Amino acid sequence: MERFRIYGNEYIKNKLSSMIIKGRMIPSILIYGEKGLGKSEMAKYIAASLNCEKHSGSPCSECRSCRMILHSNHPDVIYVTPSSKSGLYRVKEDIRPIVSDAYIPPNESGKKIYIIDDAQKLNAECQNALLKVFEEPPGETVFILTADNKQSVLETVLSRVFSFEMSRVSQKQAEAAIIENGFDEVKSSDSQSAFPGNIGKQLEYLNGGDLFDAVVIARTIIDAAVSKNEYELLKAYSQLTDRETAQNVIDLIMEILSSAVEYSTGAEVYPCAYNEGAKRLSDITFSKRIAELYDTLAGAKDRIQNYANLNVLTAVLAAETTRLW
Ligand SMILES: [Zn+2]
Repeated sequence: MERFRIYGNEYIKNKLSSMIIKGRMIPSILIYGEKGLGKSEMAKYIAASLNCEKHSGSPCSECRSCRMILHSNHPDVIYVTPSSKSGLYRVKEDIRPIVSDAYIPPNESGKKIYIIDDAQKLNAECQNALLKVFEEPPGETVFILTADNKQSVLETVLSRVFSFEMSRVSQKQAEAAIIENGFDEVKSSDSQSAFPGNIGKQLEYLNGGDLFDAVVIARTIIDAAVSKNEYELLKAYSQLTDRETAQNVIDLIMEILSSAVEYSTGAEVYPCAYNEGAKRLSDITFSKRIAELYDTLAGAKDRIQNYANLNVLTAVLAAETTRLW
């Protein structure tokens, strides 16, 4: 039977379930956390919990309402996404219409729920337009926002919503999910070390998506650093031609560097996308230099978010990486 699959994150489920059972008013909700943790699935799960005909505080997956939500065709669960090509929300086209529509009562019994995905793509004007409905929500309406991070949400919005952070899941839960999706244990262990506890990223990696390429680039950069090959290093960094790839590769390298420091200090080593590379890196350089590169990369991530020039940035990173040796 098809059912809602939410791994881990018991706290969020329990908290909302108890509010629903007690009949407490459910305010607007923000679910935030890195990509791949299942924020959109959680939003659907909450919508189904609110509208389930069995009123048990969590979705039964069987009633008419749950089944419609599972198939994304419940008339009162509205998915809001940006309509523009830029991928950003626009106040007039995307937000104002839902604000006025929110005052119309639900078609079916239960709640009318708006799921606004990628709230980090709402500019201040859009967020301000939503403030009014968050302040005085129309009777049977609930807004659920998802966002990659909390920083992109205005303080005024944060003070009016219930915020929940999605967590990575345990290794056991991730393994179960990967195997449920048709991969074997070897694949599961490979993806687990590359993206510990993040099922969405593991599946994208295993299905050969962008994250697979990111892992290949990150490993090439580490190999070039270990073999002290400046030309290969530059070549590998120059593959970071778009912001998302750059963010993904830098995240992976930072995790590999953390493991390298753990190898050199004799601490317990957590799995990363390239344990062998981390070990070899720890043999050729000092943990202080690895830590310095880690800080440089953390700074680079901020600069990528602030739209720094990628060509310049990757050249700088290649030069900074040569300081390892
Ligand atoms: Zn149900």
